[in-house]
Amino acid sequence: MVADKNSEKSIHNNDKLDVLKSTQTVIRHALEKLGYPEEVYELLREPIRFLTVKIPVRMDDGSVKIFTGYRAQHNDAVGPTKGGIRFHPEVSEREVKALSIWMSLKCGIVDLPYGGGKGGIICDPRNMSFRELERLSRGYVRAISQIVGPTKDIPAPDVFTNSQIMAWMMDEYSRIDEFNSPGFITGKPLVLGGSHGRESATAKGVTICIREAAKKKGIKLEGARVIVQGFGNAGSYLAKFMHDAGANVIGISDAYGALHNPNGLDVDYLLDRRDSFGTVTKLFKNTITNKELLEQDCDILVPAAIENQITEDNAYDIKARIVVEAANGPTTLEGTRILSERGILLVPDVLASAGGVTVSYFEWVQNNQGYYWTEEEVEEKLEKVMVKSFNNIYDTAEMRRVDMRLAAYMVGVRKMAEASRFRGWI
Ligand code: GLU
Repeated sequence: MVADKNSEKSIHNNDKLDVLKSTQTVIRHALEKLGYPEEVYELLREPIRFLTVKIPVRMDDGSVKIFTGYRAQHNDAVGPTKGGIRFHPEVSEREVKALSIWMSLKCGIVDLPYGGGKGGIICDPRNMSFRELERLSRGYVRAISQIVGPTKDIPAPDVFTNSQIMAWMMDEYSRIDEFNSPGFITGKPLVLGGSHGRESATAKGVTICIREAAKKKGIKLEGARVIVQGFGNAGSYLAKFMHDAGANVIGISDAYGALHNPNGLDVDYLLDRRDSFGTVTKLFKNTITNKELLEQDCDILVPAAIENQITEDNAYDIKARIVVEAANGPTTLEGTRILSERGILLVPDVLASAGGVTVSYFEWVQNNQGYYWTEEEVEEKLEKVMVKSFNNIYDTAEMRRVDMRLAAYMVGVRKMAEASRFRGWI
């Protein structure tokens, strides 16, 4: 009996941590609120296309290792699909599917002419050499080449992938295509058709959301106590932008632990010492755990790491007044419910982290027209998009009396539902 109860409990718990299931729940809820019929949900609950590939890679020691990769294309009614590629040992089919749905929502929220896509490879790049990573990146592109392309599906960086990996992938695709194809992928180095401001774009977008959310809550950014969980691309740039804005960054973390100092951390030093995977806490003795960091007293908390960090188990212990999600899926549905019941303003991932794909879109536009913008032009355009999107969702939440996650889904889902209807699919 005891064993049965336990296994039942663990299935129940796993269900709550199943990111695909949670996103489907909110999509259904958003479509119901908007009055769409059941078939719209049936169309949008899973990607329209999903490819699993095996990628043989010759390792430096001469052996061959077979990696598994995925590419999900959620919905291409609005336009080509768009979204990053993640290299991580925990990548799974369900996670990639959920991530592709989130990309569709982001593109809907910031009004880009794209649907959502996402890719992933099960691997640990921290334990691979530069050459092994190059062979894996090129092998992945060869494996998915038939379903991607500048007018079909446009990849980009995500967790543990960067502009060098985008460069190898662009080069491989250009060879297959027998044409220089910069618009095949975004997040490239500047010299290969990358855009100014792309690398810091996710953090810039999060910064704008923090600023707008702080205004709503009457919090002054100068001197505000900020905790950032994660020190990868988004987390590290964000810590810098918060520091530059005069906020007091009192906590940061990486996969191995967290640093906390109520008087403020030396952000410049930490940025200087982090490695390319965002690891920095290993250099310190007085670390706390990621879990402990989330529960520290602060004004603004930014989960910028991985999924399922704020759950029913710790949502009552969060002391921040504003939570802004820079990572994809850091708060479970129960976590969301508890935070909003407690009056904590939660700015959801699909809005807060949409700055990355917005500047990816700018990069793709520049590639298509062959005319490049200055950093100021990119920043000005991003600012306008993010402020408008934030206010649209904040006002929708107020008007419909729903939390900002549901409001964001309602805004995000509408364009693809309408486009699918005009195409005569539903
Ligand atoms: N991987 C990023 C995200 O999750 C960016 C995607 C893109 O630029 O296409 O939003």
